[in-house]
Amino acid sequence: MAATLAAGMPLMTKLIAFAAFSAATPLAPFSFDRRAPDEEDVVIDILYCGVCHSDLHTARNEWGRTTYPCVPGHEIVGRVTAVGSSVSRFKAGDLVGVGCMVDSCRQCVNCNDGLEQYCISGMTGTYNGKDRKGGATTYGGYSSAITVSDRYVVRIPYGMDPAAAAPLLCAGITTYSPLRHWKAGPGKTVGIVGLGGLGHMGVKLAHAMGAKVVLFTTSPDKIADGKALGADTVVISTDADAMAAYANSLDLIINTVAVSHDLNVYLRLLKRDGTMVLVGAPEHPHGPLQIFTLLMGRRSLAGSGIGGMPETQEMLDFCAEHGLTADIEVIPIQQINTAYARMLKGEVKYRFVVDMATLQA
Ligand code: NAP
Ligand code: ZN
Ligand code: ZN
Repeated sequence: MAATLAAGMPLMTKLIAFAAFSAATPLAPFSFDRRAPDEEDVVIDILYCGVCHSDLHTARNEWGRTTYPCVPGHEIVGRVTAVGSSVSRFKAGDLVGVGCMVDSCRQCVNCNDGLEQYCISGMTGTYNGKDRKGGATTYGGYSSAITVSDRYVVRIPYGMDPAAAAPLLCAGITTYSPLRHWKAGPGKTVGIVGLGGLGHMGVKLAHAMGAKVVLFTTSPDKIADGKALGADTVVISTDADAMAAYANSLDLIINTVAVSHDLNVYLRLLKRDGTMVLVGAPEHPHGPLQIFTLLMGRRSLAGSGIGGMPETQEMLDFCAEHGLTADIEVIPIQQINTAYARMLKGEVKYRFVVDMATLQA
């Protein structure tokens, strides 16, 4: 179908997907209807969807607020098949992306600033959210198609590999946004903690912005990769002597670790006025903070969530300009449970991306 939809045209489509049906059972095939598109909607056939650790946290209810069945997936690249009558930015055939949110209030100060992820009444998550149009639970990218208001759709730059672009929609923007906000660039030394999906994009982006990059990893077998991805130095974070050598040396740390751990060991590495930004969102709280580590050095501990829609497009354009995409392993959807197990073991180099054509298999 390649068409312009009439306003309110009732066109529900039956979709196939993979869903989690409970916290303790493997993901399995699922079929559902998406709501009828309206005049501002973009209807997208999904080609590829990245596998984010947040998908796993949500599928297993590690954040305690999952509604089942849950169709994860918020690193979506697909082809537009139809647009609503008021949509002018996209047309059938365009290659587009959808990230972690599909709506927000569009009226609050944060939405007006293009920081829709911080919408005061809460952004609508691409999955496990409550659709502002109709109130149903949102279903994400492990599915054959998605319907999204045009404001929450971005353009994949011309020539970019669609599979390797998919992880930019979450891993890319989640690291790009704090790197920009805290002004990573020439003359700055940036630490990236954890070389997974987010971390490997953090290394690439910080390097491309001109910062000196120090990667902290628990995995000695990732040293060579870390350097190839753009790290100037790789430090094994379990080696106390190696860590002590970096005390007071970093302007900014982006901490991507998906499990709770001792933050103090990283805070000590910040220079005076340095900031550690948490983007990892573990199931359990981190251990206690040593307050004097923050006080003595005027250090900051901060957090950051994905990025707004304008910044997501800016990040994609930055990646195109610098020839950056994710390092990926493409898998069929039938391997999603194995992929989760491998992600937990740190075995992914560095993002699984599902080829959605395999849903039909
Ligand atoms: P991932 O691919 O699994 O990477 C996490 C990395 O953490 C691992 O590769 C590993 O790197 C490191 N790690 C694992 N266990 C560790 C341990 N015990 N101690 C220290 N480091 C450890 O996950 P991801 O997809 O990048 O996501 C990372 C986190 O960010 C998740 O919690 C996810 O939910 C969250 N997230 C947040 C946002 C946001 O908006 N803030 C957006 C997306 C994702 P090494 O082997 O190098 O140590
Ligand atoms: Zn994500
Ligand atoms: Zn808002």
